[in-house]
Amino acid sequence: MKKVEQLRAKHPSWFQRPFYGFGCDDGWYKLIRDLLEELELMGMDENFRVLQVKEKFGGLRFYTQGASQEAARRIEEVCQDSFNVCERCGTRENVTTEGSWVVTLCKDCRKPHEYKGAELEDWDD
Ligand SMILES: [Zn+2]
Repeated sequence: MKKVEQLRAKHPSWFQRPFYGFGCDDGWYKLIRDLLEELELMGMDENFRVLQVKEKFGGLRFYTQGASQEAARRIEEVCQDSFNVCERCGTRENVTTEGSWVVTLCKDCRKPHEYKGAELEDWDD
C-alpha cells in the first residue's frame, strides 16, 4: 500500500465512495496530509468529499465536493505548490517539471528514468 493511501483512514467520512483513489506517488504525502489537516481546521465536515487525488501534467489534482471558498482556494494553492515538490521522494531541492513525459521530480529521482541510450554506463553529469 502506498503511504498516501493511509491518509484515507485518517478522514474516513471524506473518502467515501465514490473515491477514485490516490493516483500519485508518496513524495506528496506530506503535502496532502497537511492540506487535509488544514481542511479540518477550516471546518470541512462530513458533507465534504474528496473524489480523487492524482497527478496530472506534473501537478497535484485534488477533486472535491462541498468545499468552502476558502478551502477551494487553499486546495488550489497546494496544487500549485506541488510543482515544487518531488512526487517520488518529497524533496524541494532541484525539483523540475520537464521532459517528454511531464512529471515533477528532483534531480536524483529523475536520473534513473532518463533515457540514456542503449548503453547505461555513463551516469556522470
Ligand atoms: Zn526526488
